[in-house]
Order: sequence, then C-alpha cells, then structure tokens
Amino acid sequence: MDIDRGPWRRVGEGAGLLRPDGSIAATVFAEMSALAARTGSINLGQGFPDEDGPLEVLDAAREAIAAGRNQYPPGRGTPELLAAIARHQRRFYGLDVDPATQILVTAGATEALAASILALTEPGDEIVTFEPYYDAYAGLVALSGATLVTVPLRWPDFAPDPDELRAAVSDRTRIILVNDPHNPTGTTFDAATRDLIVELAHRHDAVILTDEVYEHLTFSEPHIPLSTLPGAGERTITVSSAGKTFNTTGWKIGWLVAPAALVSAILTVKQYLTYVSGSPFQPAIARGLDLPDSAFDRIASDLRQKRDVLTRGLQVAGFDVSVPAGSYFTVVDVGPLGFDDAEHFCAELPALAGVVGVPVTAFASTRHRSSYRSLVRFAFCKRLEVLEEASARLAAIDHRSTR
Ligand SMILES: *Cc1c(COP(=O)(O)O)cnc(C)c1O
Repeated sequence: MDIDRGPWRRVGEGAGLLRPDGSIAATVFAEMSALAARTGSINLGQGFPDEDGPLEVLDAAREAIAAGRNQYPPGRGTPELLAAIARHQRRFYGLDVDPATQILVTAGATEALAASILALTEPGDEIVTFEPYYDAYAGLVALSGATLVTVPLRWPDFAPDPDELRAAVSDRTRIILVNDPHNPTGTTFDAATRDLIVELAHRHDAVILTDEVYEHLTFSEPHIPLSTLPGAGERTITVSSAGKTFNTTGWKIGWLVAPAALVSAILTVKQYLTYVSGSPFQPAIARGLDLPDSAFDRIASDLRQKRDVLTRGLQVAGFDVSVPAGSYFTVVDVGPLGFDDAEHFCAELPALAGVVGVPVTAFASTRHRSSYRSLVRFAFCKRLEVLEEASARLAAIDHRSTR
C-alpha cells in the first residue's frame, strides 16, 4: 500500500505539522502541555478549564447514566437537547428554529466544522477565514481538498481591514469561515465587519460557517450571532460548543444550527464520521441550556474576573497586553521584555518563570507567520489562585537575564 498518497500529507501540511522527513509532528498544544508537565510549570497554554462547571449539569449526566441512557441516541440528537437548543436560540437571540430539521448535535464543535466543510466543498473551492485561526481549520480545509484563503487580523485590536476582506472573497469562495469571539486573539467583530461578511456572502453566493463556541463568554457586550443579521439566516451555519460554556470540554457535545437543506447535506457526512455520540451527556447539556439567565451571567462574570487578574498580572510583568472582549485567551507582545521571537520565548518560559504559553505563530499560515512573531497567547480559564501564582512568577522574570 502506498500510504504516502493519502490525504494525511495534505492535512499535515495544512496544519503546518509535516516534518521534512514526512512524519507528522505533535500539535503545539500537546507539545506545550507535555512541556508544562515535564517542568512542573503552570499550563496557560492549552485552553481547558481546571475546575468543574455547574453542578446541575454534572448531576444530570450521572442521572442519565443511572437511568440507562447509554445506547446510541437519535442521529440528529436527543429530543430534549434539540428542544433545549431551540429554546436557547429564542431566549438569547430571538431566533425561531425548528428542532426537527434545523439543528444537528455533533461530537463537539470540531465535528460540526468538519462535517460542514466536507459536505459543502470540493477541491478547487476556496474557504476564506481570518488569521491567526483555530488550528483545526487548516487541517480540516486541507482534508477537504479546498484552498484556505486568509485575511490577517493585526495587533493590537485584531480587527480585519475591510478592503483586505473584500479582496479575499470572490466567486470561488464557497465558505466564509468566521470565529467570533475569536481564538486565539479574544477579539470580537464589530457591526461593520459583521455587515460586510453578510454582504460579501450574498454577492458571491457563499455560505457563512460561523464558529461561536465562546458565545456566552463575552466581557462587555452580549454576543450577536451572525445569523441574526438581515439576510444571513438563509445561508449561515452557526456552530456552538457546550464544552466551552459549561466547562465540559471532555464531553465533546456541540451542535450546529442552519437552514434545513444545509443540515440535511451536513448530516449525510456526519453520519459516517461519528454517526452519534455522548448519549448521557446530551440530556445533561439540555439541563444546562435551560439554566436561568443568572447562571449564564455568572459564567461570564467569573471568567471576566479571571481575565482581569491575568491581564493585570501580565501588564505588571511588563508585557504589552491586548485585553480580550471574549473567549478564554489573551495575547501579549513579548517585545518589552527584550524578546523578539515568541517561539524562542515560549521555549524558555518554563525555565524563566515556570509558566507555559503558546506562540501565536502556531495559529498562522507560513505566509503570515512573521506578522505574529513576537506574540504569545495565554489562557485564563484557570482557577484564580493559579492565575495569581502565574502572575507573580511572570513579574519575577529578571529582564536583564533575557535577550
Ligand atoms: C475549543 C474550540 C473548538 C472546539 O470545540 P469542541 O467542542 O471541543 O470540539 C472550536 N473552535 C474554537 C474556536 C475553539 O476554541
């Protein structure tokens, strides 16, 4: 068998993981988590919370297992989760969604993205996204054989340039892939950007695939889904993740909401990826989505407090900090500490301070990597005492010892 001819090579290249000898390297997140474990450092690299979310949600999963909800659930999702998602869309966004035809429950947001991209694109199609981007995007686009076209987001506010966005979208564009609130930068898009995305999708007959996994994790303005804009609903696939909202990243419960015809097309692919998943977790997430507004407010305000502790700590330590409007992450420039290369800085950081972060170049294409050379992403979805300890360690870095 000629294993070299498989799409795995394209994926390795798309994700920037292919080594010169043809083997695939570990993702930078796995590498950084291993580095943190090996050196006993505080891991602000990978974005997973270090404490449990709402007890009601955890209890509901235990109850579902005890009640025998342990076999394959229905293909589109369990009825109570579909109904809870529809209620959630109405309560938070004023959207009317048919639970029977316009929702698909997936193995995390990742499978929703994968199934959408595989269902809707073929080799030769272009997918436009913003850079830096969540690392899975490049791998998934490569798997589909489509071409990734990126619009750079630049330090310090990470807002796209409207002319660059206009220039990137053409009649070859099949999907405009949006992530708002944005990982890794923590930025949220303004109204003008949202309007322009919808306008361009119409003009070039593109589908909007919008990754809104941080929809409940915003710190000043409530989140506005792209699908609520006039003319957007008919061509928009909105992707959500219960993992990010309820601190259950390991459960891998996500979903997408889209017009019925798009959901059917995506379902044809999804049924051959995982078929279904997370039987006892689905009713548990339904319970979570029905929690009162106060519970969602608490989730956001707890995380905002964490953001404030870490961004302040980073400022005191001497970094230039981009204060995020949403998500789990903040980005800093390491220049003021005497470094110009964030990859080098992140490799040294465990020894310098006992902390791990991820260079933003890990989220960039080879073409644009140099624009992000001095930037590091830190995750603040950690306990307050962990963030305070990390801040103290970073503040103790002796600038004279750095280069
Ligand atoms: C975490 C994350 C995902 C993946 O979500 P899962 O539900 O764990 O699959 C997708 N997109 C972005 C931007 C993320 O940060």
